[in-house]
Order: sequence, then C-alpha cells, then structure tokens
Amino acid sequence: MPKANPRHPDFPIPGGPELRARTWRAEGLLRLLENVLSVGEAPERLVVYAALGKAARSWPAHQAIVKSLTEIEEDETLIIQSGKPVGLLKTHPGAPMVIMANCNIVGQWAKAEVFYELERKGLICWGGLTAGAWQYIGSQGVIQGTYEIFMRIAERRFGGTLAGRFILTAGLGGMGGSQPLAGRMAGAAILCVEVDPARAEMRREIGFLDAIAPDLESALAMIDAARAEGKALSVALIGNAAEIYPEIARRGITPDIVTDQTSAHDLVYGYIPAGYDLARVQRLRAQNPEELIEAGRASIAQHVQAMLAFQSRGAEVFDNGNLIRTQAQQGGVANAFDIPIFTEAYLRPLFARAIGPFRWMALSGEEEDIRRIDDLVLAMFPDDRIVTNWIRLARENVPFEGLPARIAWLGHGARTDLALAVNRMVAEGKLAGPVAFSRDHLDAGGMAHPNIMTENMRDGSDAIADWPLLDAMTLCASGADLVTVHSGGGGYAGYMTSAGVTIVAEGSASAEDRLRRALSNDTALGVIRYADAGYPEALDEVARKGIGHVRCAG
Ligand code: NAD
Repeated sequence: MPKANPRHPDFPIPGGPELRARTWRAEGLLRLLENVLSVGEAPERLVVYAALGKAARSWPAHQAIVKSLTEIEEDETLIIQSGKPVGLLKTHPGAPMVIMANCNIVGQWAKAEVFYELERKGLICWGGLTAGAWQYIGSQGVIQGTYEIFMRIAERRFGGTLAGRFILTAGLGGMGGSQPLAGRMAGAAILCVEVDPARAEMRREIGFLDAIAPDLESALAMIDAARAEGKALSVALIGNAAEIYPEIARRGITPDIVTDQTSAHDLVYGYIPAGYDLARVQRLRAQNPEELIEAGRASIAQHVQAMLAFQSRGAEVFDNGNLIRTQAQQGGVANAFDIPIFTEAYLRPLFARAIGPFRWMALSGEEEDIRRIDDLVLAMFPDDRIVTNWIRLARENVPFEGLPARIAWLGHGARTDLALAVNRMVAEGKLAGPVAFSRDHLDAGGMAHPNIMTENMRDGSDAIADWPLLDAMTLCASGADLVTVHSGGGGYAGYMTSAGVTIVAEGSASAEDRLRRALSNDTALGVIRYADAGYPEALDEVARKGIGHVRCAG
C-alpha cells in the first residue's frame, strides 16, 4: 500500500507487496519514479530539485512512462529522450529495461539560451543528475557527501573536530537542505541563509534544521552561544545571501568554514537577486528574464566577493558544486576561482579509488528493511571507518524521506559484495521486498564536469566527456536495469555530462548476474578513469584488486 505523504498529499509514497507492473524490475523503476516526485520540491510541476530538475518532460510524457512501465515485458527496453518515452523495443532479458538520454545538446549549441528555447518548445527537459533518472532520495542523498567534506576539513584544519566551529552557508533547497543536518552531525554551529521562508520551515519540520532565527543579531548570538559551549546547532536565517554574507564580513566576523548552495547555476529559475522578493522574481521569469540574469550576476559578484574576503581572513572557503564561481567570474570577479571546488580540495583521493555515494532504496516502503541492511553493512565492513561511522550516525540522525533509503560511500568490490548479500536476503525472505541500488552521478566513472567533478585533473583531462559515455555503454553491456546519460549540470547546457545506473535486487539469479556485472564494471571504470589520469591511489587500487586496466605506452 502506498503511504500518505503529508508534504505533498497528491504524491503518496510507494510501497507494499502488490505489483502493478509485470516484473519487480519494472515495478521497482516505477516506484522510484513515484518516489522522486513524493520527495521532490514542486512535484505538481514535475520538478524534483535544483530549480528545474524534472522527473519527466510533461504530464502526458509521465503518463506514457507509467503505462509503459506497467506493460513492459522482461525482454523489452523502454527508450526515454529527455523525459519523454519514445520507444518500447524488443531486446532480450539481459538488456536494460530503461535507457534514457537527458538534455544532451550538440557542442556548439550547448548554451543556456538554446536550452531555454528548446524547453519552451517542449523538445527537451533537464533531469538534473538524479531527478530525471529517478534516483533522488531527498536531501539525504547528498548529506553524507556534505558531512564527509566537513570532516575532511575538521581533520585537516581543526584537530579532527568541528565542535566550537562556525560554518556559514546558504540555500535550503532539495540538495542544500542537507547542509544544516550535515553540519550538526559534524558537531559544528552552522548558519544557513535562505531567502524563502517556506523552504526553511520545511527543513525544520522534517528534522534537518534546529531553529529559524528572527534576525541576523539573534542568529549570530545563537551561533556564538553554541560555539562557546562546543554544542552542535543548526540555525536558518531568512534573508538574501548576497546581502547577509557581505554584512557579516563588514562586521569583521570570520566564520571558520564558508560555502554556498543556492541555485546559483540558474539565474532565471534559481538564484534570487538581492533586493528582489519572490513574487517579483516569479513575474520577471516570464516577463523579463534578462533583468533577472543581470541582477543575479551582480548579486553573485557581491556574494562571492564576501566569500573571498572570508578566505583572505583565513576561513576555509569552498564551492559546493553550484557554479557560483563561474557566474561571479562572468559578473566581473576576476579571482573567483581562488575559491577551490570541493571535489578537488577534499574528495579526489576517495574518487580515485571509486569510493563515492552509493545508495539503496527499500522498494517495500518498510524502514525495517533499511535497518537490517544497516546491520549487514556494519557486519560486512567493520574496518571501514568512514562507512561504519556514517551508518551509526545516519541511523540516529537522518530521518527517512519517501521510500526508506540509505547512502554510504563504498568503492570497488564493496558495493558489489553488499548488493549480492542483499539480493540473497531478498531471496530468503529476510526483507519485506526488493531493494534498488543506485548512486549519485557525481561518482568516479560517471561524470565529466570541468567546474565540479573533474576540475584540475592531474593530466588536464577535465573537459573530456568520453568517460561518462563509456560508463553508460559499459553499464548497458553489463545489463543494468536503468542506464542514463545526462548533460547540462549547473547551467543546464554544456557544463557537464554524466552517467547514471539503477539495478533492482529482486532476489533472482538474473538479478545477481546484473548486480555483479554492472556494479563491478561501474566502479572498475571509475578506477580506470583515475588510473589513466595518473592518480597513485587509482594505480594502487588497480594493483590491489586486479582491475582490468589496460596500460599502453602512448
Ligand atoms: P533548489 O533550487 O532546490 O534550492 C536552492 C535554494 O536556494 C532555494 O531554497 C532558494 O530559495 C535559495 N536561494 C536562491 N537564491 C538565494 C539567495 N540569493 N540567498 C539565499 N537563498 C537563496 O536547489 P538544490 O537542489 O538545493 O541545489 C542547489 C545548488 O547545488 C544547485 O546549483 C545544484 O546544481 C547544486 N548541487 C550541487 C551538488 C553537489 O554535488 N555538491 C549536488 C546537487 C546540487
């Protein structure tokens, strides 16, 4: 039975033993589509997160996807072009059940204005990374990534703990909404500036945020008190980051860590310029988008100048993957790229070993299934400090949103071993239903994004999109259930290419084959990508795990 969804009553959370589709593979993918809407930001517009990241192109396209998934046979593949199903083709039972390509625009034309025009004509939609691929699991999907960044900074600069430290950030949307909880879990006092009171209120209601301060003075006083006691606390302040950051800088206050997760990648549907209220922005989106672009760039310039001022005073400042530096540079801030990107600064050694945001969703809708898998993870990987620490923290602190799900940064071999063990549990009836395995697109083999994932690669291969395309083809050859190639990223067009994958562990022998091949080859390709770029961690992983990396002299 689907469960009521208080946040979006028209979009119940899927679950229960009844199948509407002919197989669990198709039913699982259908439930994941329903799930991204149930936890999305504006499901009535099909928007899941990041301002315009959609689950399907239009409501008729959505209905056609649902119908196709309920009718699809084991030996067929549904072809989806930018959120619209276009073909249901005879393939074979080992082939993917769904393949999709989202928002891929030919090089010279891959610009925001072309995207907006194609979108207006109903020819394309942007799927974000996990929205169009039906893999989004709410703010919890990025929460471990944010937590791990904070912990790497803690280890590097603050003796391993953020107790008594002040984090300043902004944006409490679909992804950014994870920041207050990640900051609190890391032990810090975190202040999150958010322009839309409804977004902050929602994060407070679901337990991701402790308090909303009435004004800047109170917010800073709450942060000071928490710092003095070494107490973890998350506080939101309703306001515009382009005004609040410079004001904090003007007062001579220097936070320990500064970042930002507003939708800076989109100056029309995302970022709110200083001095504009939400209703005015809403009107201008239709009437005068050019004004919003101009005002947004000018605001981002102020916003980033304040971040640079904090950096020059010794704060740890980083870009959290929203293209704010790119926009600031276009707005005249020549040294915006003095701010490092989080991937290069903190996470690359993990990605070089293909350790990244792996995730699983209990298709039964039962939270107990996730708790059982938590126990399994703790038993299987007792020596993996990142994983065991995270699972213990997550089970205590991270509320479930939508289908119960968990994320853990696992790498080559570990992902496959876990998924196979879960598939056996499903077969033996130890879980209430099948489990879907997936990952963020921001993963070792899955993404080329020269301003986020692949900035400053050791061999200069930042902008080469061959890797995610190879990943998607490898995943198809390996028989994953859903394989997707997305482009756009922040800025919609021309900024990135990524590959996504989902496999349903429904307890069968064929699921075991799919999981083994697809998960092992996905992480193998990730390690190979970094080995090819010369990262010692990847070369070590190749040698230790016998990964099939072909080395050649030229
Ligand atoms: P979202 O659109 O759901 O939320 C953005 C939030 O920022 C909204 O709540 C909005 O009200 C607020 N906001 C906009 N302008 C503001 C301003 N000037 N001051 C204060 N608040 C403002 O987007 P999201 O899903 O949370 O994603 C945020 C950004 O992070 C996007 O650019 C996205 O592409 C990027 N992102 C990065 C990663 C990563 O890997 N680190 C992952 C996902 C998304």
